[in-house]
Amino acid sequence: MWARASAGSSPRESFRTLQTQAVTAMTIHTILHYPDKRLRIPGEPVTDFGDELAKLVDDMAETMYAAPGVGLAAPQIGISWRIFVIDVSSEGPSELRAFVNPEIIEKDGKVAWEEGCLSFPGVHQEIKRAERVKVRAQDATGESFELEADGLLAIAIQHENDHLEGKLMVDHLSPLKRRSVHRTMVKRAAAS
Ligand code: ZN
Repeated sequence: MWARASAGSSPRESFRTLQTQAVTAMTIHTILHYPDKRLRIPGEPVTDFGDELAKLVDDMAETMYAAPGVGLAAPQIGISWRIFVIDVSSEGPSELRAFVNPEIIEKDGKVAWEEGCLSFPGVHQEIKRAERVKVRAQDATGESFELEADGLLAIAIQHENDHLEGKLMVDHLSPLKRRSVHRTMVKRAAAS
């Protein structure tokens, strides 16, 4: 999900501190940009909670912080698994959360937020979503948890969960706005 302001003490630093015991170097992945077709491939459920998954989750977090962004889903780096990471903290300690095989089990209220997406650099659009959500997921070790969220975290969960279905922010826009964003992104892809 969209870029955060990059001033002050960054959660990236806190995250690095937490990771001092990691033995393998982290990999920053290339984030796919719309209209890359791989963004439309739904994620497969994760069944193997081994070292490979732990490494992928670490790499996804590192890729998100480097962008910088507040959320990243595995299909955005071309990996069709049901995983996303979110950290909506703007400063101070990291609030990194990994959601594996997530399921939004309750939605309540309506709210409009201006959203961005790391797969749509420079694009910001107002999108209406549920104001509060309850999500059930597993963490990187396979442990199940439930989380109730509101505010930016609730928006981020819904945005990233969409990615796992191959659904993108443009799908929430009116046909006119969708065409406009599509044209902008296609032009940009052709220029790069
Ligand atoms: Zn996104």
